[in-house]
Amino acid sequence: MENIFYLDNNATTRMCDEAIEAMATVQRDWFGNASSVHSIGADARACLEEARKGIASLIGCKPSELYFTSGGTEANNWALLGIGDNMLRGHWDIFISAVEHKSILRFADYLCWGSATAKVKVDGEGVVDLDNLRSLLAKSRAPAFVSVMMANNETGIIQPVSDVVKTVKSGSAKSIVHTDAVQAFGKIPVNVQELGVDLMTISAHKLGGPKGIGALYVRDRVAIRPLLLGGHQERDYRAGTENVAAAVGFHVAARKRLDALEEYVTHTFALSASLQAALLQGLDNVWVNGNGVKRIPNTINIGFEGVESDALVLMLSERGVIVSNGSACESGSLEGSHVLKAMGRTEAESRNAIRFSVSDDLETEDIKAVAAHVIEAVTQLRAMPDVPF
Ligand code: PLP
Repeated sequence: MENIFYLDNNATTRMCDEAIEAMATVQRDWFGNASSVHSIGADARACLEEARKGIASLIGCKPSELYFTSGGTEANNWALLGIGDNMLRGHWDIFISAVEHKSILRFADYLCWGSATAKVKVDGEGVVDLDNLRSLLAKSRAPAFVSVMMANNETGIIQPVSDVVKTVKSGSAKSIVHTDAVQAFGKIPVNVQELGVDLMTISAHKLGGPKGIGALYVRDRVAIRPLLLGGHQERDYRAGTENVAAAVGFHVAARKRLDALEEYVTHTFALSASLQAALLQGLDNVWVNGNGVKRIPNTINIGFEGVESDALVLMLSERGVIVSNGSACESGSLEGSHVLKAMGRTEAESRNAIRFSVSDDLETEDIKAVAAHVIEAVTQLRAMPDVPF
């Protein structure tokens, strides 16, 4: 991938070599069905449980509290279906933040039979409004199911999840809090004990692991309904032959990232900060979405007035600069970002924004080249007669 600057790491990452190698070894040498009773099955089971134990220790939970899924989407859907649905049937309420990933937003609306779920507002910088949450909880028939993500995929903004937990639990200790930590895990410290959450979603492919595997943490004694029925895999909660190689790849990548988390944070923060500074200095009428609030270190989201982000993404791609506007799963949609609109941006402004999500294998020189390409491309687009500015 020579001359390609990949800054779309919140969509997905290149797998790290260690995870690729570990997965190849499992596929070749430990290929058994982890549920088979013979020795080949037992070997595969041992690999799977080692991966579960390792990932559990990285987020501060017991291995028995961690269930593998096919990714973040499935874990988010399962949190809602496994617990939220029960609560709805008991006429309890579901509250989710307005900036959640679509795997929470769409599924929550689906569970509510198409009527909108109560959305917790965020402020102009994208941080969840705890007063709004408090007033929603006060009006509801407590307990409630609340889902607030740990870090936003489009803006990188970090939510005060432990304050959310305190707010919710002070209303009713029976209430349940879920957090989607897909974009936080591997970029900032994530520990379920410190957060105090009951449920948490993580995914492998955002931190150098394989696509198609994630996990749902379910605190002991939180009663969740099974997701898939069939065999007895995942302690009867999620049937289907386990993807042992992917679980091992997930563990290896997560361990590698967390062993060097400080270096990752320092390096990616320096890169994203210098890119932000270069763009603000090199262009007029540019703004940062989520300025001055805590963000994961690798992410910046910049609005370029008068520039349609789709056009900019394509023009930059032709130049070898890979970025995105909003979430990868929303691409092709003509609507502006729901995240930016929830932050008070207009429809037009929400279509002017680009997300730059760097990786730790980029260098300062790469960022200088990227900034130069972006400045040229924005200038060119703004000069086009059919692009009003
Ligand atoms: N939640 C967030 C915040 C995400 O960014 C993503 C992926 O973009 C997901 C959930 C879905 O994860 P997966 O791609 O593993 O299904």
